[in-house]
Amino acid sequence: MNDRAEARPACWKWPLPTAEPGPGPEAGTGQDDLTAEAAEDLREILADDPEERDRALLVAWQGGRCAICNRRRELVDDHDHATGLLRGLLCSSCNTIEGRSTQPIFVRYRERPPTAILQLRIRYWNMYTLSYAEPSTPPITAASAQEALDRLVIPAADETV
Ligand SMILES: [Zn+2]
Repeated sequence: MNDRAEARPACWKWPLPTAEPGPGPEAGTGQDDLTAEAAEDLREILADDPEERDRALLVAWQGGRCAICNRRRELVDDHDHATGLLRGLLCSSCNTIEGRSTQPIFVRYRERPPTAILQLRIRYWNMYTLSYAEPSTPPITAASAQEALDRLVIPAADETV
């Protein structure tokens, strides 16, 4: 019982990546398989596109592990419907439960998911609509604030008589 109340998402226990990318847990089987040319192409793509770089960092940091249960399984993108941004990579089991669960481990995960820990910003790509997810609550801008204020203006007294 206490274990469940105290449960922390697995990603809270993972060491933060170091500034210099070092050999990962599977060193010798990953990057080394790339040809020098392919590795150079990858570096260029990542340098040109901050979002691709952020995604590559997230994938590398998670290392195939679910951010909640730590199991090495096929992972899916989990995103925040309010922002349209990725939270992290989850196994399909955790992803299914996460959306509805009020268990502490899932609440904690939503409060501080991998993208928050690593300070990454990655839009969620919806493979069914072939577009990025839109935030369900659009950000407040100066223009939208003014529009909201304009709607609040009460008609002058002579207009209502
Ligand atoms: Zn999981």
